[in-house]
Amino acid sequence: MKITNVRAIQPIAANSPPDWRTSLGQILVAIDTDAGLTGYGVGGGGAAGIHVVQTVLRDLLLGKQPEAVEDLWQQMYSATLAFGRKGLAIMAISGVDLALWDLRGKVAEQPIAELLGGTVGAAIPTYITVWDEVTPEQAAAHHAFKLHVESADDVAALVKRTREAVGLDREVMIDAWMRWDIETTLDVAAQLEGLDVGWIEEPLPADDFDGYAELVERCPIPIAGGEHEFTAAGFRDIVERRLHQVLQPDVCWVGGLTELLKIYKMAATSGLRVCPHRGAELWSLHAIAAVDPQPLAESGRPWMTWVGGQPPIVNGEIRLTDAPGFGVQIDEANLPLG
Ligand SMILES: [Mg+2]
Repeated sequence: MKITNVRAIQPIAANSPPDWRTSLGQILVAIDTDAGLTGYGVGGGGAAGIHVVQTVLRDLLLGKQPEAVEDLWQQMYSATLAFGRKGLAIMAISGVDLALWDLRGKVAEQPIAELLGGTVGAAIPTYITVWDEVTPEQAAAHHAFKLHVESADDVAALVKRTREAVGLDREVMIDAWMRWDIETTLDVAAQLEGLDVGWIEEPLPADDFDGYAELVERCPIPIAGGEHEFTAAGFRDIVERRLHQVLQPDVCWVGGLTELLKIYKMAATSGLRVCPHRGAELWSLHAIAAVDPQPLAESGRPWMTWVGGQPPIVNGEIRLTDAPGFGVQIDEANLPLG
């Protein structure tokens, strides 16, 4: 089997948010083969990511055998080294890598979770990221809750109200999206004492490794992070220095499933938890189902309506089907994929 075409677009749904995801948005990658099979993946990087896919990566992949996914990953990494390593180029490679994995599953006629030694059909608990107050509908629909709290003011009051809404037996976490410093984080953590907060996510900028090293030692609440880190090589430093207790790679940005699996392995040998960013989307969900000892899937992006085949979240749980590959269905008739 040989790769005959590599295509990429940035689908814009009616409710796509008018923020950075629009300019640096999620891209859909399609890899066609002479066997008549097409693999689909989602990466990032918007127009820049599409350019990388349609030039460097397409030139590299045309005529190659798609089965050698890990080898092709190394070739793509090498070909983009001068301008890649982290950021947009790796977001673009992520989409290609996931499309190659989708092909691998379709050739084997198996779901990716089974290729990874796992099974489909089991219930995976979900959490929802909440940008305001937890609504009664959200409280009923999810197993756990993460509050987006860029401001450090009144966090304890918000968590108290959330505890009243969801009860004491479900996980509540908070996400500061890199807006705090060490002392602010410790101050908030002290105010949260007794409220059983599962983790504080990205309190510091992603590159503040020394800050995280100090914070992890001093903070009584586990520290989560990694959605803005790239490749397993990037995570190696975080793991070796134990900068986070919970690792949150985003499979559509970190370099694809090839890299996510390496991160799961590193975490397992280091006793750290992995909880992938937006893990309920099919691209991460197969890895969670197959290799995650403590599965918890973050709700996905409601505006990515062009990814068909996404299983619903029901009563705080999501289940994979036995569809081959990632089980995504792309309606090419209604997308300008070229
Ligand atoms: Mg986050």
